[in-house]
Amino acid sequence: MQIFYRIIVCLSVSFIFMAPVAGQSLIPVNYSEFSKNSMAKQRDSLKAALACPVIFTKKETQKKYKEIWDARTDYILESINDNRFIQQPALHQYVSQILRELVNANPTLLKTMPLLLIDRSPAVNAYAMGNNIIAVNLGFLSFAQYREEIALALAHELAHNILNHCENSMKERAELLTSEEYLNNINAILDSKYERYTRLKKILDGYSYGSAKHNRYHEGEADSLAVVMLKKSNITFNPAFFLRLDSADLVYKTPLQSDLKSYLTAVNFTADDAWLRKGGKGLSSKKYSFSQEEISDSLKTHPDCVKRYEKLLPQSTFPGKQPLTAVPAQFEVVTNKAIIWTLFINSNLTSALYRIFLEKDKGTFDLWHQVMASYIFNGLFLADKRLSRFNAINIRSKEYISSSYYELQNMFEQIPRESLETACKASFNQSFWQQAKGDDKSFRSVLSSLNFSESLSQKELNSLKKDFEQSYSESIYREFLEQLK
Ligand SMILES: [Zn+2]
Repeated sequence: MQIFYRIIVCLSVSFIFMAPVAGQSLIPVNYSEFSKNSMAKQRDSLKAALACPVIFTKKETQKKYKEIWDARTDYILESINDNRFIQQPALHQYVSQILRELVNANPTLLKTMPLLLIDRSPAVNAYAMGNNIIAVNLGFLSFAQYREEIALALAHELAHNILNHCENSMKERAELLTSEEYLNNINAILDSKYERYTRLKKILDGYSYGSAKHNRYHEGEADSLAVVMLKKSNITFNPAFFLRLDSADLVYKTPLQSDLKSYLTAVNFTADDAWLRKGGKGLSSKKYSFSQEEISDSLKTHPDCVKRYEKLLPQSTFPGKQPLTAVPAQFEVVTNKAIIWTLFINSNLTSALYRIFLEKDKGTFDLWHQVMASYIFNGLFLADKRLSRFNAINIRSKEYISSSYYELQNMFEQIPRESLETACKASFNQSFWQQAKGDDKSFRSVLSSLNFSESLSQKELNSLKKDFEQSYSESIYREFLEQLK
């Protein structure tokens, strides 16, 4: 019930990136750019700005309304504290610029610049939170090929806010939950002797806010208004973006260009063939063929994409006067690095390494990826030591992954601990470390101590953390160290 106040997620150039200096890798995010740090001031003013308005005269309803409203505020503030968002300047500037164009061209709809949050989630999505706040996920920014595609997502989320979808939903829910009819129904069931659960469930389903039908209506409304806003902004609207969104769940289904072992060799890891195959005794030894078949609509994050495409086809302004603007390559590189780091910090190691291999196929693999791969193997060893290897692998079901991904997750599951230890030590002794930066090397030392020293006391660990923080106050690795207990 905790997510009821969230709008069910939908859709869900001028900036020049600095070229990386030779031998220096592009760091995706600095420590101060994580939301806990970068949004400290905003967090307090946000709390004040999000005071619940009094809109109901009925006391119980207003009380319920405030409960729902405050739960949303708490959710936003907690998310900021949990570093759910980042304010990486290059990403923020690029997306803000698009947002500004939409705002400037639609002054009657948008009176002030919305608060834009970049959510670190790898899921291909964006969402509106009401009160002129929108968020776009790193996963969406990585997925978008064109500036106009990002503009469509932003316009769609802005439309939800303009149409007060979030606010109205909170209002309706407060009204429903304190309505006489609802309370009478609940009381009648609680007084009855039979089938309480089934009857209660029926009532709750009937009152559940954001029913599919209700949401679909909201989505249609938001799409239509988004197209109007895009037209006013002279931003080309290509309905085919909706069709591409249909394949949004396929990132880990993307096959590697050659066999998995060659990618492992590139990150200095020698895999035994036997590790790549699933042991026969598992629970699901059922045969599965990894074809490039479509995922069924019911399993998709974005159903109805084809319907949305067909509905909006008459509104198309594609091809426009200007050709579509491809998202700059460096934007994609930074976005993907930020995703890889986020997967690593969330102990989602198979996905993190697979994304590194996908970067290799795109020709964007660099020293940073090499260093990260080494940390990922060591992260797996650390998880194993702490008896959480299975969690760190984060098994994905076969419908969503390629055969290479499946082999990689099998390998992470089956590589014996001793072999993993040897590989981890070897990866920390490769020659590429000579070109790594100070904080990379220092973090390597910390991981070495955690992984390979007999036992590390809390005191020793604290002093390692402190030394690191003092030497590298802006380093991304501080996020990892803060999680250590
Ligand atoms: Zn939507």
